[in-house]
Amino acid sequence: MKIYICYFLTITILAFGCQSKKTIQIDENTLLENIKILSHDSLEGRGFSKPGNYKAQLFIANQFKKIGLEKVNSSAYIQKFPYTFSGKRRQRMFPVKNAAEDFSNVKDTTVIGGNVIGKISGKINKTIVITGHLDHLGIRNGQIYNGADDDASGTAALFAIAHYFLKNKPKHTLVFAAVDAEEIGSLGADYFLKNYSSKENIVLNINMDMIAHNDSLQLYACGTHHYPQLKKPLKNIESPINLLFGHDNPKDKTKDDWTFSSDHRIFHKEKIPFIYFGVEDHKDYHKPTDTFENINKEFYIDAVKLIIKSIENLDNHLK
Ligand SMILES: [Zn+2]
Repeated sequence: MKIYICYFLTITILAFGCQSKKTIQIDENTLLENIKILSHDSLEGRGFSKPGNYKAQLFIANQFKKIGLEKVNSSAYIQKFPYTFSGKRRQRMFPVKNAAEDFSNVKDTTVIGGNVIGKISGKINKTIVITGHLDHLGIRNGQIYNGADDDASGTAALFAIAHYFLKNKPKHTLVFAAVDAEEIGSLGADYFLKNYSSKENIVLNINMDMIAHNDSLQLYACGTHHYPQLKKPLKNIESPINLLFGHDNPKDKTKDDWTFSSDHRIFHKEKIPFIYFGVEDHKDYHKPTDTFENINKEFYIDAVKLIIKSIENLDNHLK
């Protein structure tokens, strides 16, 4: 009997020990392959409402299907939405020759955007929405802005995260949203949230925007200034990466405030807590040199693992 108790205790200790220090396994080659595809020249920088952006939507929808995500909207992974450009904005996006000063001769133009959405049903309906934006700047002055870090990195990470949580069932329902048109004002995230059928169930947004490029192994988890209850689950996660807090306090003059810098702001405005994962701006930020060749591959892999562990902790700790 003693031996059995001892055996049981050992197993219990081992099991709990392993749980907290469990190393996250992901398919690293697939992760890199996916960010490479999303930032490839053939997608022409994924500019909003441009053919390369539509190709990206289809690729993401196919990945969601392949991985085995459920659909949120009954019929399709892609949630299309119209957006009308008028006046000065219309002229900037779709220039008309000899436009009048007041743009009165520039007609409104409506285009179609698309978010790609899938989900994993958890044990409860309370939902964590995980976002990355699929669009980037497109082609400007004949140059392709590939947007590998911004934000093919966040989008490709969605697949790895989804894969992991299909094998390691979460408590919360996880919604994966590759949202469109972040670069021109978070139009996709805004449309998604406005049209989400059970907004009251959303307890957290995890937003990833630029998680693949940093030379000093630093990744920020921004948002705990507003939502301090989210800090504890993110502390002391073992990783080669330094997970830092900050960039979320308007009174801290040493760092710019990222509270409104990406799609998480749409959730924050609705008082839905968020954690935004991202790096400091770098030399390739919003330049044609933000390419697959220029990201830090090891850093990216470690960042995705760290984010998965963070989500796992939050999933366990959220009340
Ligand atoms: Zn971005």
